[in-house]
Amino acid sequence: MKDMKGIILSATLFIIVILSPMAVLLFATHPPARDYWTEFSVALGYAGLALMGFQLILTARIKWIVRAWGENVIYKMHKIMSLFAVVAIVAHPVILFIADPGKLALLNIFDAPWRARFASLSTYAFLALIVVTLFKDKLNVRYERWHFLHISLAVVAIGSGLLHAFAWGFYLETPLKHQLWIALILLWFTLVVYTRVIRPALSSRKPWVVTSTRRERGNCLTLVMKPEGHAGVRFMPGQFGLLTAFASPFRLTAHPFAFSSSAERYPDVEMSVKQRGDFTEKLGTLSPGDKVFIEGPFGVYTLTESPALHVFIAGGIGITPVMSILRTMADREDSRPVLLIYCVTDWESATFREELIAMTVRSEFTVLFLPEHPTAQWHGETGRIDVEFLKQALPAGVENHRYFISGPEEMINEVEKMLSALNVPLENYHADKYSYV
Ligand SMILES: Cc1cc2nc3c(=O)[nH]c(=O)nc-3n(C[C@H](O)[C@H](O)[C@H](O)COP(=O)(O)OP(=O)(O)OC[C@H]3O[C@@H](n4cnc5c(N)ncnc54)[C@H](O)[C@@H]3O)c2cc1C
Repeated sequence: MKDMKGIILSATLFIIVILSPMAVLLFATHPPARDYWTEFSVALGYAGLALMGFQLILTARIKWIVRAWGENVIYKMHKIMSLFAVVAIVAHPVILFIADPGKLALLNIFDAPWRARFASLSTYAFLALIVVTLFKDKLNVRYERWHFLHISLAVVAIGSGLLHAFAWGFYLETPLKHQLWIALILLWFTLVVYTRVIRPALSSRKPWVVTSTRRERGNCLTLVMKPEGHAGVRFMPGQFGLLTAFASPFRLTAHPFAFSSSAERYPDVEMSVKQRGDFTEKLGTLSPGDKVFIEGPFGVYTLTESPALHVFIAGGIGITPVMSILRTMADREDSRPVLLIYCVTDWESATFREELIAMTVRSEFTVLFLPEHPTAQWHGETGRIDVEFLKQALPAGVENHRYFISGPEEMINEVEKMLSALNVPLENYHADKYSYV
């Protein structure tokens, strides 16, 4: 989080967008008040729905918002706010049923009026959405299928929630309130059209061509790409793009990969991909001349202006954004001191090993490899990174260095705790988690 103006502006916008749907209900005339619990439960229902609609703004990857907060913070907010929203939405009927058990009859979908049927559908879809999200790893389904399910459930839940609110219309009886809520829904709808139609349409006019591919250590494949018929992208080293291959950019799921090449090699770009699943395996079939699409750049994990020592702590394929930063620094003859701590499963699979060792001819660059399973010939430190290792590895002035952590989420969480134990202020470390859910 660097851009204070962006944070204040977007935080203000967030508060307005979240509270305005409820504020609108208080305008003009009110319907006759009912008992406290009924009114309270209705307020919860509207609040939950407004919070859910707001998620469309959070996840639309609007550049100035993402730049201000960072992808990780945005996705954390998305997760937490959605949980709050679902709790509020589920509490709405539960409170009504406790206050008036006679209303339980509305659960009978055969006899209930449509407005109650929409309410049931919305609540069930929201509950399913939470289960599908929280237990994503346990479900063991392909990411694309999971993503489709996630989006479909969100659309059904929000859509039927709105139909329920409009069909009941208790607080939406005046034309002004009606129109303001319709304006809000149009805003949500515009965002969906922007992310799912306009942005892919723009991207489809800017294809990229694979010029070559390179095998790297650790079952990693580097794709070298150049823009075809357009100027390409200017990215900051450490940022990532959304790659679509074997399909048009209208495909629901694009795959995020960090740019691994130097930002100075514009307009060519490289992405280095660990082949771990169906999409990344299939990328191995790409050959020179094949067309792909890249959306972006996104992300705020990049070099700072600080002259302080930059310490990169990378785990596994989390090395890719670091490679881009190191290569860019070399191209720019940036001579600020850099220490890379590279946690790898074993020595043989250390992606970019040779290039990193070659980079150490620059006196300002040091790399420490930390293999979890070393070979018998290995003489350095081994195992997983811990505070003791960091204390030994880091030069004096631990609190003043700038830290960049990239890799699996568990590793980042652990390293963040270690840095906090070493009294490194929060603003001195930046993380790039390779998983959002
Ligand atoms: C910001 C960011 C940058 C990344 N940069 C790189 C990189 O430079 N090199 C690299 O090898 N990997 C990178 N990854 C991870 C990479 O996106 C996934 O490994 C890849 O999408 C897996 O696809 P798959 O179908 O082959 O594997 P699967 O077996 O389907 O998935 C493997 C894992 O990747 C996650 N994943 C799958 N598809 C997506 C998607 N579309 N969006 C988000 N997560 C997904 C799944 O949740 C699962 O945990 C990055 C991820 C993020 C979030």
